[in-house]
Amino acid sequence: QAKITGRNTSRMFNPELNQQVIHKHHVVQRLREALLNDEFVLHYQPEINMRTGEIIAVEALIRWHHPERGLLFPGDFLSDVEGSELEFELGLWVIDSALQQLQYWQQAGLEIVVSVNIAANHLQAKNFIQSLQQILNRYHDIRPASLQLEILESSALGDVPTLSRIIDDCRHRVGVLIALDDFGTGYSSLTHLRHLASNSVKIDQSFVRDMLEDDSDYNIVDGVISLAKAFNRQVIAEGVETVEHGLMLLSMGCDLAQGYQIARPMPAENVLNWCHEYQLQHEWSLFQDKVS
Ligand code: C2E
Ligand code: MG
Ligand code: MG
Ligand code: MG
Repeated sequence: QAKITGRNTSRMFNPELNQQVIHKHHVVQRLREALLNDEFVLHYQPEINMRTGEIIAVEALIRWHHPERGLLFPGDFLSDVEGSELEFELGLWVIDSALQQLQYWQQAGLEIVVSVNIAANHLQAKNFIQSLQQILNRYHDIRPASLQLEILESSALGDVPTLSRIIDDCRHRVGVLIALDDFGTGYSSLTHLRHLASNSVKIDQSFVRDMLEDDSDYNIVDGVISLAKAFNRQVIAEGVETVEHGLMLLSMGCDLAQGYQIARPMPAENVLNWCHEYQLQHEWSLFQDKVS
């Protein structure tokens, strides 16, 4: 244990902490290399309206094609970029890649919203709005309303009045859509819903997964749906893994859904085909047939 001899010196004498800092530095360095080497890719997962069968959007989910370790998921590496400058660079890369992909889809005749995940602290970074606008300017044919930003509703949401102002700017000055992601997991969801004027909220999959067996999860999902409606927000359920989940949500008044029952995240090159097949086969009748 280091002896504190003056201001800010204790940390230098803590070998464990020092190791952590060095390790983190190396990891961020490696991730920066990965970005330069084009090792990141986006997979896409559809969101549908279970009642009408309409495809609402596709959500971009980052993956890392690691040359030695294979395909890595956000849970394997995203926490390492948190709080570094790279977090912002990666966030802008995701927006740009998703729009490039959307441009290609639009040219192929697919009109769809593409949704990207953005950390709340990136949204509040200096120049975020400017950078967002700059990227959108590169894609003349894309309406801003075809881009949705999903903001993680976590305890690290930051300063609510500031975030609220940025959300308003994103929606009303830039024209993009805003969703609050993983809704229900933050510590003050109700306040957030009241102060953050998003277009929609996504109910966290942990509640949806267990709502058929667990009464409290059922009540949370039910409550979030009512609350979202009272505040005039669209509500999307994540983690719809079975037909039973879908039917339960429909009976609770939630029509919009995303989950393995509908589709798993897929490489960009499979999306056109998936949408085509889905619309042809009316896979959604899985839900539809059973709705009275
Ligand atoms: P999220 O935004 O809530 O995304 C949903 C996650 O749940 C995805 O995991 C998706 O593959 C998974 N999922 C979808 N349907 C089901 C289902 O029916 N059952 C189960 N068990 N899981 C389902 P993934 O791709 O591993 O992403 C995890 C999280 O990482 C995301 O959660 C998001 O918070 C974050 N993330 C992903 N891509 C990005 C990105 O480009 N930027 C940032 N900042 N965060 C990202
Ligand atoms: Mg998301
Ligand atoms: Mg989520
Ligand atoms: Mg999540």
